[in-house]
Amino acid sequence: MAVVLGGFLLIGPFSGPEKLLWLTLLIICWTIAAAYGSYRIGLDWYLKSVHRVEANAIALTFDDGPDPDTTPRILSILNDAGVTATFFLIGEKAEKYPDLVRQIAREGHGIGNHSFSHRKDIGFFGIDRLREDIGKANRVLELNLGRPVPLFRPPFGVTNPRYAKVLTALGLRSIGWSLRSYDTVIKNEEKLAARLRSKVRGGHIVLLHDSVPATVSVLAPFIVYCKSRQLDFVKLPLS
Ligand SMILES: [Zn+2]
Repeated sequence: MAVVLGGFLLIGPFSGPEKLLWLTLLIICWTIAAAYGSYRIGLDWYLKSVHRVEANAIALTFDDGPDPDTTPRILSILNDAGVTATFFLIGEKAEKYPDLVRQIAREGHGIGNHSFSHRKDIGFFGIDRLREDIGKANRVLELNLGRPVPLFRPPFGVTNPRYAKVLTALGLRSIGWSLRSYDTVIKNEEKLAARLRSKVRGGHIVLLHDSVPATVSVLAPFIVYCKSRQLDFVKLPLS
């Protein structure tokens, strides 16, 4: 809004229809920029998120679990490789599979909140409904872990001013990513593996999904590749 007001002052010299035209253009540009910022968590448009780790390391993060089929297979691969990761769990699934929540924690991985419902329209929730949804996931996770969860990853990477307020109120830190695997989109396992290998660099937070079978298939060789590049694996939160 400040930008719109600033712009209004800027186009002050104009008058009549010309002023209206410039003001309309300004509002359209602002709306497009705000929508773009909402869908690009890396821009930190509405709230600051963590997107990177130290330069010689990567952080594997898994969203949308726990899943009774794929999450145990992911855990087994990580365990065999001696690697820890971070899981951003959906509260509704955590409530259904509490043993998996406890297993993830017991095996030394980080756990974060990924909302309770993960509804497609969560980006349009009002502030009270958003607080209730995220707070409910917090309660489910805390019940199983015996401690509060400090991290949150916005579903679909969408942020807005309401998220900023709710996360502050609930004491949650937003975690983004710097390498998106697109493992929910790329169906071909070879293409997914090639994308991960070609894009990974030290410092990346890698977005994966433990609910996707293709991710299970490519994970072990990807870890071997990262180790061959002398990359360490870290879990979140970092200090
Ligand atoms: Zn998600």
